[in-house]
Amino acid sequence: VLENPLVLRVRDIEKSFQGLKAVDKVSFDLHEGEVISIIGPNGSGKSTTINLISGFIAPDSGLIDIDGDPVAGLSAAEVSNRGLARTFQNGRVFAGLTVDENIGLGFHKKLHAQRPFAGLQRFPLLKWVPLLAETAVALFPGLNAHREQREVEQRIGREIDRFRERLESRRNDYAYTLSYANRRRTEIARAHISEPKLLLLDEPTAGMNQSETAEVLQQLQFLKSQGHTMLLVEHKIELVTALSDRVLAMDGGRIIAQGDPDHVRKNPQVVEAYLGK
Ligand code: ADP
Ligand code: MG
Repeated sequence: VLENPLVLRVRDIEKSFQGLKAVDKVSFDLHEGEVISIIGPNGSGKSTTINLISGFIAPDSGLIDIDGDPVAGLSAAEVSNRGLARTFQNGRVFAGLTVDENIGLGFHKKLHAQRPFAGLQRFPLLKWVPLLAETAVALFPGLNAHREQREVEQRIGREIDRFRERLESRRNDYAYTLSYANRRRTEIARAHISEPKLLLLDEPTAGMNQSETAEVLQQLQFLKSQGHTMLLVEHKIELVTALSDRVLAMDGGRIIAQGDPDHVRKNPQVVEAYLGK
């Protein structure tokens, strides 16, 4: 995969919170089809790194390129429109929406990001063009809206099949009634259905038991076999070893070791970082 084109290029990104360096000159590359995991003790800067790449916070300095385009400082919505999808450390779904609606949001996002005139929103005078185009489409509803709705429903069905989820019987249930594991499955499905170029997963199995973790591992291995490019924050070393082409170990905001999973987990500095906390 290292000969594949670069999807993500991170150079010397830094972020401080009230004088505390949460991320301190982090640099790495992620190639198409590659899976990288970030490991490290609590507070080492893993989530902050994910938040910087996904535009949830802006770096103090450094470069972030997605597909060769600089994205550092862009909003989360803009980064997402460039083909990035993510999940959150504690799992975020819309509690008042059903499973289908939550997953559907991911699909609508993909459709929206692909709209031919979407880029024009940036130009004040031209920003009406998409509105006019959409009005024209709306005048012939048979053409589009109905077909789009059917397509969305079919696509959600396939997404749920694919993940062999226990979500099947819960499709019309509100997310707030779901178990924690089912919420996280919904979240991963929502991210995946948007067909991202780059998928960031912050501790996808946190708080899950062994069999739930094994199931998520299987899902992620399936995504990997499909050629998805993923950046993962994960503690469970068996999962990291099974899934990752490369591992980055962080401590105190810095990358202290990187390489293949077995190599990194045995690195004395990495062992020390974990034991020291
Ligand atoms: P990890 O995900 O590796 O556990 P984080 O990236 O969440 O670590 O946090 C790294 C450091 O930055 C921690 O000391 C944390 O307390 C601090 N930090 C993270 N986010 C914020 C924030 N929004 N405001 C202030 N401090 C933060
Ligand atoms: Mg974290």
